[in-house]
Amino acid sequence: DSVLLDVRDLTVSFDTYAGEVQAVRGTTFHVNKGETLAIVGESGCGKSVTAQTIMQLIPMPPGRIKKGNVFFEGKDLSKLTDRQMEIIRGKEISMIFQDPMTSLNPTMRVGKQIMEGLMKHQQLSKADAKERAIEMLKLVGMPNPDKRVEQYPHEFSGGMRQRAMIAIALACNPKLLIADEPTTALDVTIQAQIIELMQELQNRLNTSIILITHDLGVVAKIADRIAVMYAGVIVESGTSKDIFHNPQHPYTWGLLQSVPRLDKGQKERLVPIDGTPPDLFAPPKGCPFADRCDYAMRICKEQFPNKSNLTDAHYVHCWLKHENAPKVKNPITERG
Ligand code: SF4
Ligand code: MG
Repeated sequence: DSVLLDVRDLTVSFDTYAGEVQAVRGTTFHVNKGETLAIVGESGCGKSVTAQTIMQLIPMPPGRIKKGNVFFEGKDLSKLTDRQMEIIRGKEISMIFQDPMTSLNPTMRVGKQIMEGLMKHQQLSKADAKERAIEMLKLVGMPNPDKRVEQYPHEFSGGMRQRAMIAIALACNPKLLIADEPTTALDVTIQAQIIELMQELQNRLNTSIILITHDLGVVAKIADRIAVMYAGVIVESGTSKDIFHNPQHPYTWGLLQSVPRLDKGQKERLVPIDGTPPDLFAPPKGCPFADRCDYAMRICKEQFPNKSNLTDAHYVHCWLKHENAPKVKNPITERG
C-alpha cells in the first residue's frame, strides 16, 4: 500500500483564558491510497481538531501545533504557504461536515457552489462546469439533477443537502476526503444511504477517506481501518475486523456495547459508558480512561500505558496487556 497521508506525533493545544486545552496529545496514524480510515470517539476527544489540523484550518492563536507533522504525499503541510495550502484544500483534500447548512451557502444555487471549485481549480468554462455539476449531482444519486442544479439549499431535504455537499467535495476529484460526522444529523435510513454512497464513490474514484464519527455502528461497512481516540490520544487502532471482532481496549469494548450496529439492523442505543472524559486542561498522566474503566489498576493512574502490538496493524495502549496484569474476560470475544 502506498501512504497518502502520514500524521506523526501530532500535538495540538488551544490557549484560552482558563488555561491550555490539550486537545490532541501525540497522535500518529496514516492513510493509504484508496483506503478508508475511521477515527472514532466521543465528542471532545480530539478527532475534529485532528481533521482541522490536517486541513490547516485551526485558527492560530488560540490554536497551536506544539509538536508533530502532517505529511501529504510526502509534503509537510505545515510548511506550505497559505496560498499553496488553499490549492491543496480545493483540489487534493476536501472536507464535509455534519451540518451541510453551515457549510453550504444558503444564498447561492447548489449548482453554482459545485461549479465554483471547478472553475477555480480546474479552469473549466462556465458551461463545462455546469455540465460537470449536473454529472456530479447525478453521481451522488440526486433525482432530477437538471432541475436541482438551479435550486437553493433550502429546497433540499437533509439527506439531499448532504449529497450536495459530497458532490461539492468530490467535484475536483480530491485524493483525500475528510468526512466529519457526515451522517450524524440524518435519520438512520438516510445515514445508511449516505455511507453506501460514499463507499460506492470511493470504489469508483479511488478516493481515500477519513471518516470521523462518535458512532462505531456507522463505520462497520465502510472502514478498512479504525483508530479509537480518547482524550486526545489513539488508545487502540486496527483493521475493521480487529476492532469489531478482537477489540482489546476497555473503551473500545464500551463503544461496541453502546452503539447500534446498522449492519445488523439494530436501531436502539444500547448501554452507554458511565462517566465523562477527563478534563483536557489537566489531562491525567496515566491512562486517560482510568476514571471510567471497570478494570483500572493502580498503575493505570500513574503511568500512560505502553503500546502493545497484536499484529502489524493492530495495537492498543492498555495495562491489561502487560504480562503481569490479571487476565480479564473480553466481553466482546467471550460473550455469553
Ligand atoms: Fe483500563 Fe487500565 Fe487499560 Fe486504562 S490502562 S483502559 S484504566 S485497564
Ligand atoms: Mg467533532
